[in-house]
Amino acid sequence: MKKIAIIGGGIGGLSTANCLQHHGIDFDVFEQAPELTEIGAGVGLSAAPIQILSYLGLDKKLMAAGAPISGACMMDKHFHIIRQINLSRLNVCIHRARLIDILSENIPSEKVHLNKKAFKIEDSTNSTTGATQVKIYFDDGSTSVCDVLIVADGINSAIRRQLFPEIGIRFSNHVIWRGITTQRLPGDLVEKFIEIWDRGRRFLCISIDSDRSFWLALDRGKPGGKDNPDTIKQELLHKFADFDGFAGEFIRNTENIIRNDLADLGGFTRDWHKGNVVFVGDSIHATTPNLAQGACQAIEDAWCLAKCLKKAFDAAPASGTINPGEIFADYQKRREKKVMEIVRISWLFGKLAHAKSPAVNAFSRLMWRLLPSFVMRKQEKQLNDLSYND
Ligand SMILES: Cc1cc2nc3c(=O)[nH]c(=O)nc-3n(C[C@H](O)[C@H](O)[C@H](O)COP(=O)(O)OP(=O)(O)OC[C@H]3O[C@@H](n4cnc5c(N)ncnc54)[C@H](O)[C@@H]3O)c2cc1C
Repeated sequence: MKKIAIIGGGIGGLSTANCLQHHGIDFDVFEQAPELTEIGAGVGLSAAPIQILSYLGLDKKLMAAGAPISGACMMDKHFHIIRQINLSRLNVCIHRARLIDILSENIPSEKVHLNKKAFKIEDSTNSTTGATQVKIYFDDGSTSVCDVLIVADGINSAIRRQLFPEIGIRFSNHVIWRGITTQRLPGDLVEKFIEIWDRGRRFLCISIDSDRSFWLALDRGKPGGKDNPDTIKQELLHKFADFDGFAGEFIRNTENIIRNDLADLGGFTRDWHKGNVVFVGDSIHATTPNLAQGACQAIEDAWCLAKCLKKAFDAAPASGTINPGEIFADYQKRREKKVMEIVRISWLFGKLAHAKSPAVNAFSRLMWRLLPSFVMRKQEKQLNDLSYND
């Protein structure tokens, strides 16, 4: 049996572990943190990753712990509806820590190694078979050797920086703040994803379970900034003071406010693998969160890569010889078109959504009013497409 290691126990790494397990392939996960969890915020999943979680038998847990989302609602800052969009298939929004629990509860605990921060890898040779392997170096001084390394260590990936130093982070010069509140969305908005765009600022909110909602607020800002936890709430209330409705209430009734710079890894074509090492999720194709698709694509990567590995292992001769380069090229070929289109559209969508110009704002309101339903259906169909796995 080939020894497979996964670096990173986030949504991408744990999804990969679950998909490998589903196909009877052994693995070990190495996570830098002392526990498997995620910061207090929500994550939206579209129909394709939900479908994958159903293949893994995790969809019921997901539905029970999250909130069903049946549509989106574009509003102006006075909370007047511009356009309602009904989704053809349910999406789910869930607290990130709950999603991590669902993914990790399904994996034997001895397969997960915590406090293991990988900082370097090296090719090594199996002394018995002569086959090429990968040696992982951790910052506690330990090492581990594997036949196949799956890297899922996020946008700041240490291993990507080592293997592909030419890939840099692209910042959009926007800051996004996130928080969870026990305030609920009113009436039938409880199943909707609310979007408000106003002259460079953006406010979004959505339910994450039967008791709580999740909000995001965006404005222009240079990367690398820090908030003062004592004043950030007042600053955001001031920034969004002219927004009516529940924006202020949501911000006011939030304990922890999290700050992120909007960024991706650019829209250019790149390799997703080198030698016996392959990447999934943000580590190789992080996207701006404008379409709420980064985690969705990490889950789709996980499913596709596990299927490609399974196919290759089943076809391998009795010696167990496989050609990782071929397997990973197959995986990248299947996934790349969809993912890089999402990266591209998400970046452009951000340009429109976050435009400061009143003329562009007026245009986007008009666009939402007039955009034919079939165009949105087509977009949704493309997002939900899993046929590249066939
Ligand atoms: C504001 C915001 C909102 C978003 N909303 C959505 C949404 O609604 N829907 C959606 O689909 N996506 C959303 N995303 C994107 C989503 O969060 C990411 O795409 C997703 O978390 C990527 O998962 P990942 O496992 O690839 O990386 P990460 O989540 O970054 O996980 C990486 C893991 O690797 C570990 N790690 C890092 N370095 C090392 C190391 N050297 N050694 C060992 N372990 C390491 C980390 O501790 C972490 O556990 C959003 C992103 C942002 C910023």
